[in-house]
Amino acid sequence: MSEHHCDAIVVHCMDFRLQHHLNRWIEERFGKRNYDRVSLAGGVFDLDTIRKQVAISHRLHAIRVAVLINHEDCGAYGSEGTPERHRNDLLRARQLLQSDLPGLQVETYYLHLDGQFETIEADQAL
Ligand SMILES: [Zn+2]
Repeated sequence: MSEHHCDAIVVHCMDFRLQHHLNRWIEERFGKRNYDRVSLAGGVFDLDTIRKQVAISHRLHAIRVAVLINHEDCGAYGSEGTPERHRNDLLRARQLLQSDLPGLQVETYYLHLDGQFETIEADQAL
């Protein structure tokens, strides 16, 4: 099983408008064959599903990092998808994943439609 590990899992929305940005960013960050990937409407919106997917990735592939990416103008959130809501959901997802899997590094980003990855941190001002 030693050949069967990867560094990371990346979680993002299925929205077609973002895939080319995501593909470029993920490959620059992790390479071509070094990550699991979950593409689900809303990114971390369905948090129960995301927690299960990350747990499976951790168990099977011994990931060290989980990257959570929500995005601007996400249809799964509709009119509730304010930057504040995305920020809150990302930070809650990080908190729960780190509780589920102690030692896991969890990174959170808000992806703008123009391809800019904005880092979301717990202590930053909105
Ligand atoms: Zn979306």
